[in-house]
Amino acid sequence: MPRVVIVGAGIGGLSATIALAQRGFEVEVLEQRPSACEIGASLSLGPNAVRLLDELGLKEVLRQTGAIPRAVDLVRWDDGRLLHRTELGASMEPHFSAPQLDFFRPELHEVLLARAEQVASIRFGARVVAVADEGRTCHVVLGGTDRERVEATVVVGADGVSSTVRQLLVGKDQPVFSGTVVYRGIADRRDVADLHPAGVNCYWLGPNRHGVSYWLSGGERLAVTCAVRDAAWSQESWTLQTAPTEVLGYLEGWHEPFLERIRRCTLMLRSAVYVRQPLAQWSFGRVTLLGDAAHAMQPFEAQGAAQAVEDAYALAACLAEGPDDVRAALQRYAAVRIERTRELQDSSRAAAEAFYLPDGEEQRRRDAEYAVLHRRQPWGPRQPLWEYDVRAALRSAPRAAHGDASHDTGSSASDDLGYSGRSASASVL
Ligand SMILES: Cc1cc2nc3c(=O)[nH]c(=O)nc-3n(C[C@H](O)[C@H](O)[C@H](O)COP(=O)(O)OP(=O)(O)OC[C@H]3O[C@@H](n4cnc5c(N)ncnc54)[C@H](O)[C@@H]3O)c2cc1C
Repeated sequence: MPRVVIVGAGIGGLSATIALAQRGFEVEVLEQRPSACEIGASLSLGPNAVRLLDELGLKEVLRQTGAIPRAVDLVRWDDGRLLHRTELGASMEPHFSAPQLDFFRPELHEVLLARAEQVASIRFGARVVAVADEGRTCHVVLGGTDRERVEATVVVGADGVSSTVRQLLVGKDQPVFSGTVVYRGIADRRDVADLHPAGVNCYWLGPNRHGVSYWLSGGERLAVTCAVRDAAWSQESWTLQTAPTEVLGYLEGWHEPFLERIRRCTLMLRSAVYVRQPLAQWSFGRVTLLGDAAHAMQPFEAQGAAQAVEDAYALAACLAEGPDDVRAALQRYAAVRIERTRELQDSSRAAAEAFYLPDGEEQRRRDAEYAVLHRRQPWGPRQPLWEYDVRAALRSAPRAAHGDASHDTGSSASDDLGYSGRSASASVL
């Protein structure tokens, strides 16, 4: 079986590790961070991702770790008036084969890491600086004085929005600032139980700002997030902390109970949201991309990590179908995934525009649509995204033709500093 080296131990890389190991692959994960310690706030996983993680053997532990919302309310920014309610809860499961689950991000990461460590080798403090495709095999090079080489049959760049692997493969293309800065707060249950109803996720829609609040950790913590468009600041980071008062400065006139949730946060992180241009090609010989490295998107559909999980499942399925021709398998993987993720990048951008509308004619039209949406979509605005099943997409997509055998003739890498291989050209769409 091919030996797969995964660059990056984020949600995408770890999901891919578990999916590949389940299908019998030997996997090594290389993570630049010095240790497993993960800082972060909230993350919501739609049923399109949860049902795949269930299949990877994580069903029980995920339900013990996350929180299942019973309803999602969209409300107005100033007076909290209800615009739309979606009932979720236990009745989601029969329809979608899984619930939505809301996590404290470090806890989800811990679950994935614990399982990945049981089935694969995970190395921390291992920063990949170069990738070379030599025809019959490939390898990555680690930073550091000895420039260690790690051999592989396949390399997966799951190294996030600032992906080194993508940079090596595609060249100049850079992450693009979306214009949104996100403040991500966490409050303890005892501090906010009087403010936030049990089991309800609340979204405040308002001009150039967007608030979200929902329970995590089985209801022990509350996420309090605020997206701010046009904030005069653009540093990408999961870990920068700030004071809750900073975000209040952007929210004059907003619904007082939302502001009070912010005041009661014990942790407030700040990060600028960067996105990636869609790529026409993800797979280059024996090297491919996954997760944010391929398709970082705005967070307004809550689908970035979910898409990384779909990628992970599809990658493992394609490699398992064609382990003797990994180039063809990687092409098939990209063919199954590119359109889906491109559509989500578009719809996430469109969702941002709709949520951020100032009061006026367009906002009234949006709210009128919310008022009748349940007639055609009882599961709310995200129903079509959640109904998508990557397993069905894999079944209906044509099998890959076998790759050009001349690729496997064993040509040697010419340069360890960067990417070397036969397919190093790609265009940004
Ligand atoms: C504010 C906000 C809210 C969000 N909310 C949601 C949500 O509710 N639901 C959802 O589905 N998605 C959400 N997302 C998106 C989601 O967080 C990302 O899509 C997801 O974390 C991407 O996972 P990844 O594994 O691709 O990348 P990452 O999680 O970024 O992991 C990449 C890993 O690669 C490592 N790495 C980088 N370079 C190297 C290198 N050269 N060598 C070795 N290791 C390297 C990094 O240290 C990191 O550990 C949100 C995003 C934002 C910004």
